[in-house]
Amino acid sequence: MTVQGAIWRDQLTAPERAVLGRSDQDPFRSRPDILVVGGGILGVAAAAACAQAGLGSVLLIETGRLGTGATGGATGLLIPEPHQWSDPEPFVDLERASLERWRGLESSIPGGVGLINLDWIGLAPHAGGFAAHQPRAVEWLNPGQLAELVPGLAREMEGALIRRQARVNPLRAVARLAALLPAIATGVAATSVSISGDRIVSVGTSAGDVSPGAVVFATGGPPVLDGLTLDIPSDRVKGHLLVTEQTEVRLPGIVAPLATQIENGQLLAGGTFEPDDESPAIQPEVIESIVDGMAVTMPALAGIGVAYEWCCFRPRHPDRRPVIDRVPGLSNAWLTSGHFRTGILNAPVTAAVLARWIDAGEPPPEAGTWSATRFG
Ligand SMILES: Cc1cc2nc3c(=O)[nH]c(=O)nc-3n(C[C@H](O)[C@H](O)[C@H](O)COP(=O)(O)OP(=O)(O)OC[C@H]3O[C@@H](n4cnc5c(N)ncnc54)[C@H](O)[C@@H]3O)c2cc1C
Repeated sequence: MTVQGAIWRDQLTAPERAVLGRSDQDPFRSRPDILVVGGGILGVAAAAACAQAGLGSVLLIETGRLGTGATGGATGLLIPEPHQWSDPEPFVDLERASLERWRGLESSIPGGVGLINLDWIGLAPHAGGFAAHQPRAVEWLNPGQLAELVPGLAREMEGALIRRQARVNPLRAVARLAALLPAIATGVAATSVSISGDRIVSVGTSAGDVSPGAVVFATGGPPVLDGLTLDIPSDRVKGHLLVTEQTEVRLPGIVAPLATQIENGQLLAGGTFEPDDESPAIQPEVIESIVDGMAVTMPALAGIGVAYEWCCFRPRHPDRRPVIDRVPGLSNAWLTSGHFRTGILNAPVTAAVLARWIDAGEPPPEAGTWSATRFG
């Protein structure tokens, strides 16, 4: 029997699951210094960074439960180095800095964030190897070395090994970070803003008005609220993932694009891109193609059962890079959106940028590149 939904929630402890639905008693009694709108990884990380930076009282509101958006469906890979094949250097630098921050959170917050260190092994699609520019962290593998690391491949090929990348269960990370927050209201949607001069003076929500000192919007895509005019182009890109039944096959970490070994001898695979599919439904043919692809690469996986299958949507701006900025025209509101395929990875560094910006009133150096006005 295949579960239609991500595996991540089923891996949580009961207290972790409870945190995702946390709604504190009367969180609106006080006027929070910081209101964070959106309980995905970006919102929770931003709220935690603001609380840890001592920026005053912090209230986070979320329409559903924490992690119900893209965050709860993500693969959870924290792999900056392989992105050197696809992303520009300043972006990879941001990702590297964020992985370091994930490691800092793992060691500094009670119980950590559930970070699992693991190696990334890329299967070269063609003899001769990968792309023109070579990541400095890569160790190239000849077919013999690759076969030793990943036995059972259908054909001889070269590979690439990048050590010490990581992954998280994104919902566990959300739950552990949310445990640091003083006030959370799930089941509460922001619906409107009232602006006076260059300041948001109140945010209308489904549970009443909030009058915060500052606001951070972390709503996946740009926030859509009455009274807030934003001209930031965005769309979203669907992706499918699956987790197999337990298997005897053992992979030494992430074997791209085959699968990632997770708990209980199961394999996590997929991360497809279906930009033209707006339907929230799982497409069986996409799941089949992932399973077929695994068997073509590693014949021992032929006929493997699927324990979990799901799909979710990546928020995206046209240049596939996030916005991390103060809301144009406003002095006390910030937003971060469009984290596309690296929002889990980039959450801690984004959160740190926002907290430092709110604290100092000036953008930190990393912020300039990710402005909300670059599309105009
Ligand atoms: C198939 C797939 C695989 C992925 N794999 C990875 C990966 O391996 N590594 C990685 O780093 N990233 C990965 N990603 C990308 C990652 O999931 C996203 O970039 C990230 O989750 C975005 O987080 P977010 O907090 O911005 O958005 P979301 O998680 O969507 O959170 C936004 C939240 O805001 C809430 N909200 C919206 N509007 C309002 C409102 N008005 N009031 C209150 N709440 C509101 C929503 O309910 C939602 O919970 C993957 C994504 C997909 C789809």
